Amino acid sequence: MQIMDALVRAQEAAAPEVGHGRLANYIPSLAAVDPRQFGMVIASCDGQVHVIGDADVRFSVQSISKVFTLTLVVAAEGERIWERVSREPSGNPFNSLLQLDQEVGRPRNPFINAGALVVTDRLHSLTGNACEALGDLLRRESGHDDVVSDPEVARSELEAGHRTSALAHLLASYGNLECPVDQVINQYVAQCAFSMTCRELALAGLFLARDGVLADGTRLLSARQTKRVNAVMLTCGTYDSAGEFAYRVGLPAKSGVGGGILAIIPDRGVACVWSPALGPTGSSAAGLAALDAFTTYSDWTVF
Ligand code: GLU
Repeated sequence: MQIMDALVRAQEAAAPEVGHGRLANYIPSLAAVDPRQFGMVIASCDGQVHVIGDADVRFSVQSISKVFTLTLVVAAEGERIWERVSREPSGNPFNSLLQLDQEVGRPRNPFINAGALVVTDRLHSLTGNACEALGDLLRRESGHDDVVSDPEVARSELEAGHRTSALAHLLASYGNLECPVDQVINQYVAQCAFSMTCRELALAGLFLARDGVLADGTRLLSARQTKRVNAVMLTCGTYDSAGEFAYRVGLPAKSGVGGGILAIIPDRGVACVWSPALGPTGSSAAGLAALDAFTTYSDWTVF
């Protein structure tokens, strides 16, 4: 089936889910988003971009940012981050304090909040400003200079972010943060608050489908490192529903509570879908249905 036809099927499959589910109302400014929106983009390694729906509406990338911060840390210093963070699925909510405490301050993986705080901490140490480094990468790869972090969303999360603060302090109590706790929390909420469209995010993530090669032909990750980032996305990118997501979609992916999902089809391209209403484990319900249908009707799948 042609990509555009598969996108139409994906939108149809998602339609019953669009607007149904909850918004990430623990971040007050995300609760104000219209949940009836839906957009999807397929960007292929050969430069073609196919879009449907609200593909050019900006939304809060939230945890999708964690793929890019992990990438930058791995690009800078290879395997070292795994001395501080594991790479196993958590099987627990993304903001669980219990698991972090039981496992003496070593987060299960870099995509749950505790692990992402450690990655951001390391990126901040390495670069002097984690969000600047992230923004530079997102702007360069998306081709849009005005991709920035939304200060209102960051402030909103900061004010309501008691669990994030608790996780950061728990990490510090176990000696697993290098930078001052408040700096790490500020950087983390600002990285989650980047505002991007499906089209911009898909282009920004294309290097993960191109064995680590950026838009200008230079290499950010080795092919081996890219394989590994994709593997961690497959096993840990959708939190405690990673098994169900792999079963239905079968692609490395990262979801965010803004309703976006970025999925990688190695050597082919990237799918990015957005619809704000979330299913029970914090990923977009319509996004999951759309990706399920897209991989079913197209041959864009790794399995
Ligand atoms: N900023 C969100 C949080 O820390 C990210 C969670 C997500 O997108 O899954 O709770």
